[in-house]
Amino acid sequence: MRMSDYQMQRVRDMFSSLKDKSPFYREKFEGIDVSKIETQEEFERLPFTDKGDLRGAYPLGLQAVPDRDVVRIHSSSGTTGTPVIIPYTKKDVEDWGTMFERCYRMAGLNSDDRVHITPGYGLWTAGIGFQHGAEKLGAMAIPMGPGNTEKQLSMMADLGSTVLCATSSYALLLSEEIRRRGLKDKMRLKKGIIGSERWGDKMRRRIAGDLGVELYDIYGLTEIYGPGIGISCDYSNGIHVWDDYLYFEVIDPKTGEPVPDGQTGELVITTLLKEGAPLVRYRTHDITRIIPGECPCGSRFPRIDIIAGRTDDMVKVKGVNIFPAQFDEALSATPGAESEYQVMIDHLEGKDTVTLFFETLAPKGERAELEREVMSRVKSSIGLTVIPKAVDAGDLPRSEKKTNRIFDNRY
Ligand code: ZN
Repeated sequence: MRMSDYQMQRVRDMFSSLKDKSPFYREKFEGIDVSKIETQEEFERLPFTDKGDLRGAYPLGLQAVPDRDVVRIHSSSGTTGTPVIIPYTKKDVEDWGTMFERCYRMAGLNSDDRVHITPGYGLWTAGIGFQHGAEKLGAMAIPMGPGNTEKQLSMMADLGSTVLCATSSYALLLSEEIRRRGLKDKMRLKKGIIGSERWGDKMRRRIAGDLGVELYDIYGLTEIYGPGIGISCDYSNGIHVWDDYLYFEVIDPKTGEPVPDGQTGELVITTLLKEGAPLVRYRTHDITRIIPGECPCGSRFPRIDIIAGRTDDMVKVKGVNIFPAQFDEALSATPGAESEYQVMIDHLEGKDTVTLFFETLAPKGERAELEREVMSRVKSSIGLTVIPKAVDAGDLPRSEKKTNRIFDNRY
């Protein structure tokens, strides 16, 4: 995607003082005079910023404003090591709210809506982002947070929630409970706003059908404000992203070179207006592509594709790169197979084996045929031979957070 004049000007504004303000970038860009950068090509030669660098700046090394200007911090999960702390100024919080409100408007919400928020509150950006956006819109925010399905369902019915905000796996869990208990008629849900996790078409159709709602994919990450930096529109053909606040690139994750629009690679984001912790060429590790051309909805905002997975989730087995989206697609194309699955990679008797567990409603007697069908679809679409194992619908674990679907047990 070409960097617009507006974006180049914002980058130049940021670079005029970045190294004075940010100790992190003073060190990272040592020996580079960023104030001289004038073209996209020069910009694209700058080193990337990666999550590991941000961890190294713990706790507040990313802060690029005086202490008195910081009004809040958020932190991305520290389950795999030192957390990353992102400081926000008053303007950062407002800008994020403006982007989030824009997401809700893109999904057709207005001040009459009642927004049922199940993502978690706390150090991370999830719940509070949905909350602030809803308040800016003038809608009624219902700050549930995750868990306690019983209470979720009764509040949803009693308060007449019109919009459900959730991860795809939690939306699936709630939609299954609503169907199982025959509660659909008691609900007033019209829309679902579903967080960034990759989910197949089949799962989407099931949630939409069970809840009787239209679904929208919302995108974001803690390092770059949080959720709400883009959302799909009524046409469900990608995610519109807010390029007046952010600059988006897609690169080849191996070489770091930009790929042409339309080609899949890793999404890289630069903040254009962020004060508390500006980021330059931040590698998201999300796999997507820039969708060329105009959207039929008429929005001028560019689109990226639904996130196909994480570059870190890409696993190499028997010489083939695999990632979750490929299994979503293969199962989606197989009548009788449901959307939930798990892939187990093991090393047995000197060779790698891949077992694909998938859910089905088919009776036990009909499963051998279905398993053969799934095996041949995976073989033809991914080029990998798997051991297919059909299990009862509901048998595979659901989670309130993101669901891991590929388990590599080889090492
Ligand atoms: Zn659109």
